[in-house]
Amino acid sequence: MPIYEFECEGCGAVFEELVAARATVVACPECGSERTRRLMSALSPPGRMPRGAGVRSDESRRREREAARQDRMGESRKRRAAGEKP
Ligand SMILES: [Zn+2]
Repeated sequence: MPIYEFECEGCGAVFEELVAARATVVACPECGSERTRRLMSALSPPGRMPRGAGVRSDESRRREREAARQDRMGESRKRRAAGEKP
């Protein structure tokens, strides 16, 4: 059986379910709502990407976090320089 990705319209949770191709209703594991829809996106979620791709995206996420941190530090330095309290 294929694994499909579903999105809950009730709470927005995205989850994967092993379902028969003709299964119609899959309840949300988060809130129990049956208002879920199958995502037709061809994109693989990060957890199922090939190992190499996953590592690369982790690395780029880490760099983004680092850059954001540097930005914040720069901002607070600027505020301090202007004599404002954080
Ligand atoms: Zn839900």
